[in-house]
Amino acid sequence: MSENSRNWSRRSRAAQALGHVDAVTGALIPPVHLTSTYQRDADNAYSRGYMYGRPDNATVREAEAVVAMLEGASAAMVFGSGMSAATSVFQALAPGDHAVAPTVMYWALRAWLAQDARAAGLQVDFVDTSDLDAVRAAVRPGRTKLVWLETPSNPLWTISDIAAVAAIAHEAGARLAVDSTVATPILTRPLEFGADLVMHSATKYLNGHSDVIAGALVSARDDDFWRKIVRIRATQGKILGPFEAFLLIRGMRTLDLRVRAQCDSALWLAQQFAARDDISHVLYPGLPEHPGHKLAARQMRGGFGGMMSIRVAGGAERAIAVAAHVNLWKRATSLGGVESLIEHRGSIEGPDSPCPNDLLRLSVGLESREDLAADLFAALDRAKG
Ligand code: PLP
Repeated sequence: MSENSRNWSRRSRAAQALGHVDAVTGALIPPVHLTSTYQRDADNAYSRGYMYGRPDNATVREAEAVVAMLEGASAAMVFGSGMSAATSVFQALAPGDHAVAPTVMYWALRAWLAQDARAAGLQVDFVDTSDLDAVRAAVRPGRTKLVWLETPSNPLWTISDIAAVAAIAHEAGARLAVDSTVATPILTRPLEFGADLVMHSATKYLNGHSDVIAGALVSARDDDFWRKIVRIRATQGKILGPFEAFLLIRGMRTLDLRVRAQCDSALWLAQQFAARDDISHVLYPGLPEHPGHKLAARQMRGGFGGMMSIRVAGGAERAIAVAAHVNLWKRATSLGGVESLIEHRGSIEGPDSPCPNDLLRLSVGLESREDLAADLFAALDRAKG
């Protein structure tokens, strides 16, 4: 991009994927670099900076530059999945190191931490990270090396205070990493609140079209810890494939528009749902009665996200019946795509989950909000029997 591009908003820069124009053809949309290997120079060097496809790919680097710009980061990497990105951070710790993670978080990562990470010698404690006293009590100065946050967190949309937890973590000598999948860099940039690392399941909003599995990590600094994660990705072959990176770049061009529209629809829908007496709870940080509302209003700019959960009066059976009767909402796991999804979360999270059994998780897409409300209301009426 040109010199004055530094003044352009993130939305402008993302819309043009940083304005890269192919040097050979002038193509505005860069090619997908599918090569697995690169030619050495005659003097035996790799002066272009590309040696082998497992660590090096130009399409991947283009995607990473957009992610770094969106998050305001010094360094970014994209991975073959969000789980791959998240587990790489924990794998960069040493056996015996202590980590703190939330009780309410993406269930598969919680399960991996409780089983595999502990089996590999990490000490992991789960605490309510929305409670700063609980975080303070959990960190062990000098021994805790990582505090992990997810905010808003699955599937209750609990809000944790990034700046306050960063201060607690840093005082104890630990890094703070934030799973910011649901907030997206449009609403929150955790590095600005003092986080050291930010992780995304790029499968969700960043790509936004439910056709790619991808992960992203960004770092405030290109330091030794980051370089360890770079080595983990390279040696374990966790890099994102070039075609997926190309699709991810395409998705991020419209991130800003999509997220803002999803926030608007989600807030409106949450207000409609709150007025129904067959819905016992609407869990959405945009509603004033949500326990994290005030904090979310400070920490999330311009909206409260596209994710919410509802608890159906009448229990698990009724909740599953509601999901069975929708037509426009699609019964599927995942989130952040253009199509709206509904999921009985208890069926996927298992018995250790803090998720109530009458809870339906809703990912609000880009359909008309009136159509979405009408479809869910009809399903609620039909589930009454
Ligand atoms: N973090 C959050 C908040 C998620 O919702 C998910 C997936 O649902 C992940 C991480 C894992 O990402 P992936 O499915 O891309 O591995």
